[in-house]
Amino acid sequence: MTTKQNNEEINKLWFDFYVGQLASTPKTGFKKIDNYFLCTCCHFPTLINRGGFDICFLCNWEDDGQDDYNADLVLGGPNQSYSLTESRQNFNHYLTSYRPSDTYHFERTTTKKSKDGKITSDLTEIKKQIINKYIFIATLDNISDRKKVFSDISKLAKKI
Ligand SMILES: [Zn+2]
Repeated sequence: MTTKQNNEEINKLWFDFYVGQLASTPKTGFKKIDNYFLCTCCHFPTLINRGGFDICFLCNWEDDGQDDYNADLVLGGPNQSYSLTESRQNFNHYLTSYRPSDTYHFERTTTKKSKDGKITSDLTEIKKQIINKYIFIATLDNISDRKKVFSDISKLAKKI
């Protein structure tokens, strides 16, 4: 068997495994606040559906359906070399799902730079403002009050 065939075999094994993981993902019981599902990584209500490969604007985890039941696995899909467990820990420390040694992704999700490389905006500060608004939402009993704060969050999210 040639190297190319070996790679094809490995790719097929990985693909079968990955699709198998997706198929066994529970499709009900996802936690939701109003119109927003909680992200499985940062646990904030950032997503308009679950398991739909949306990227969370807050933590940057791509929602490929991985969840608590298989959180320790590195599935090697859109979240590359990250397990959900590691990404959750990274978010708790740095407000991004990426590890600091993953310099490119880490920097682009924590700072904004001008073309000459100067840091123009600290995305972590904006993320903290958003998190404070989510915490505020949790205190509001009225859905229309919450809707207004969700709208404020959408405006802030455009800056990150
Ligand atoms: Zn998230």
